[in-house]
Amino acid sequence: MRRINVRHITQTVRNLFIEANTCLGADVVAALQASLKKEESALGRQVLEKIITNAEIAAQSKMPICQDTGLAVLFVEIGQDVHIVGGDLRAAIEEGVRQAYADGFLRKSVCDPLTRKNTGDNTPAIIHIDIVEGDRLKIIAMPKGGGSENVSAAKMLTPAVGIDGIKKFVLETVDRAGANPCPPIMVGIGIGGSLEQACILAKKSLLRPVGEINNKDERLAQVEKELFDSINKLGIGPAGLGGRVTALAVNVEMMPCHIASLPVAVNIQCHVARHKELTI
Ligand code: SF4
Repeated sequence: MRRINVRHITQTVRNLFIEANTCLGADVVAALQASLKKEESALGRQVLEKIITNAEIAAQSKMPICQDTGLAVLFVEIGQDVHIVGGDLRAAIEEGVRQAYADGFLRKSVCDPLTRKNTGDNTPAIIHIDIVEGDRLKIIAMPKGGGSENVSAAKMLTPAVGIDGIKKFVLETVDRAGANPCPPIMVGIGIGGSLEQACILAKKSLLRPVGEINNKDERLAQVEKELFDSINKLGIGPAGLGGRVTALAVNVEMMPCHIASLPVAVNIQCHVARHKELTI
């Protein structure tokens, strides 16, 4: 049994959220740079250049990449041979979020849904915990902006609509989103499970490095490729100003579901695709 003190967890969560908010992943920057060659619209290329420059300035000056520093979403994998000592795991994570948003001068974006009163410290966080084999603790910090989350969608489809119905739902969701999620976007798709599990699959699929479009399941790899092409033919383009580059990636995750159901979730991620992780 390996002991991990909650102080270590709080410090890790703090550092990950500050880093995620200021330093865009190299895979995302590379995808943006590659998309410059694909974009036919001069205005679209200008937007992509500004996005890349903005990311460079943020990383150099340790300033947030975007003013929306996000809802604090975490995926935590805890080995069954880990013993958390010194306090409560969830409380330690919440404290890490609190410290990150205070110390990193990140905008606090969480409020009561009805009164709209800000909670003041960007908590509560959305924490997904999985118990896995081993004696390690993996923490993934994913600040999620409101603009892209707002245009995400989930639906219980009729099983008879099949893969064509799924593709139609995804395309309609992206088309309706238009400029709102600050394209170019990443499109995460969860198929199967239950309603809530499809949503988690969709969000988790966004953690895949951008550019790795080859799903291990050949059927899903084909769906990803077809949707990637169809979405980029919608003409939404960078910042929604028209162009070829609407999506940088389309990722699908799937699991079995009830015989009467076909849950599908589409989680849209803006070009500020932020996530950082550490295994303790
Ligand atoms: S959708 Fe993304 S880029 Fe647009 S405001 Fe929100 S966090 Fe920023």
